Amino acid sequence: MARECVKRGGTILNYFEVTGLLKNDSGKITGVSAIDLDTGGKYDILSKLVINATGVFADEIHRMDDPLARPTIRPSQGIHIIIDKSFLGGNSAIMIPKTDDGRVLFAIPWYDKVVVGTTDTPVDVVNDEPKALEEEVNFILNTASKYLTKKPTRSDSLCIFAGLRPLAANPDNPEATKEVSRRHKITLSGSGLLSIVGGKWTSYRRMAEETIDKGIKSGILERKKCMTRNFRFYSNEAELKSDRLKIYGDQAAEIEKMIDDKPELGELLDTRLPYTKAEIVWICRNEMPLKLEDILARRTRALFLDAGASAAIAPVVAEIMSQELKTDVKWAEDQVKEYNQLLLNYL
Ligand SMILES: Cc1cc2nc3c(=O)[nH]c(=O)nc-3n(C[C@H](O)[C@H](O)[C@H](O)COP(=O)(O)OP(=O)(O)OC[C@H]3O[C@@H](n4cnc5c(N)ncnc54)[C@H](O)[C@@H]3O)c2cc1C
Repeated sequence: MARECVKRGGTILNYFEVTGLLKNDSGKITGVSAIDLDTGGKYDILSKLVINATGVFADEIHRMDDPLARPTIRPSQGIHIIIDKSFLGGNSAIMIPKTDDGRVLFAIPWYDKVVVGTTDTPVDVVNDEPKALEEEVNFILNTASKYLTKKPTRSDSLCIFAGLRPLAANPDNPEATKEVSRRHKITLSGSGLLSIVGGKWTSYRRMAEETIDKGIKSGILERKKCMTRNFRFYSNEAELKSDRLKIYGDQAAEIEKMIDDKPELGELLDTRLPYTKAEIVWICRNEMPLKLEDILARRTRALFLDAGASAAIAPVVAEIMSQELKTDVKWAEDQVKEYNQLLLNYL
């Protein structure tokens, strides 16, 4: 999405944090103050409309608009555990709609692993690195043991990760999460802050379309025909040698060409992970990574597929990044140290 936005004339500011909202004398929002987390540079950015689409952090932005703003998000933690595919004993996903204690559990094949989840734990504090609770880990391992071909234990977990769902709070029962609607809410404040809260990945295009429609109806944005309804990010028409690279659509041909030109780039970085050096180089050139974590956790899914294996490839990936992004050796060493610290949350 970010790449496509740039291709069509948008500007993406990676590692920029909004620290405040700019307002004119009549209290209408005219833009944002932001800080470049990479350089520390501070900027005021003017705009016709500010859209708050910050997920679980939405209320921080609401409080920048109005310090007394009521909470609109009821964060709910969900964790997932990754184990080897042999535990599933087949290629089909399992869905247990009602566990003994009335919850839902699923096990889904993912590359050569299985992702087992999830939980629904209301939390009061929103932070960047939520941590799985013992109770959540035990629930998943114990329940999954009843349905998988082998009983997974804690030491079989290749990665344990937690996330916060940005559920839209129910103003009549702000504590609830399971009962809370998974639907999204769009609001426009008196000062002109347009917010989209709640919702799901599955419905993100509809959420985006309705948000823009609201901006048009309120007279802030110009009316234009929707161009994303049938929009395709990728075409999958290129003939590829590798099925694995299909996630890149036609662009996979560029990665295959790199491997054809330099076959050593086609070797797996680690047999436990489905990634080669070629992808890392291609990602550095095309997907705007700034930190080692960007590549290992977000551009690839190495961290989530196998946290230990991701640590093993971290030095090589940092070295490739350092060459591609033209940084010094110390930068690569610092990145590996920082990554190893982050990793502790996932083991
Ligand atoms: C356990 C779990 C299970 C889920 N299951 C499903 C599912 O089954 N189906 C489904 O469709 N979806 C599912 N989801 C997805 C989910 O519910 C949301 O749709 C998604 O996580 C929210 O995406 P988002 O873009 O709104 O927020 P995020 O992905 O959190 O994006 C918000 C962005 O705002 C940025 N930001 C925050 N504050 C600032 C600031 N001050 N300045 C600049 N940037 C800022 C953040 O850095 C972040 O990049 C699940 C999520 C979890 C955690």
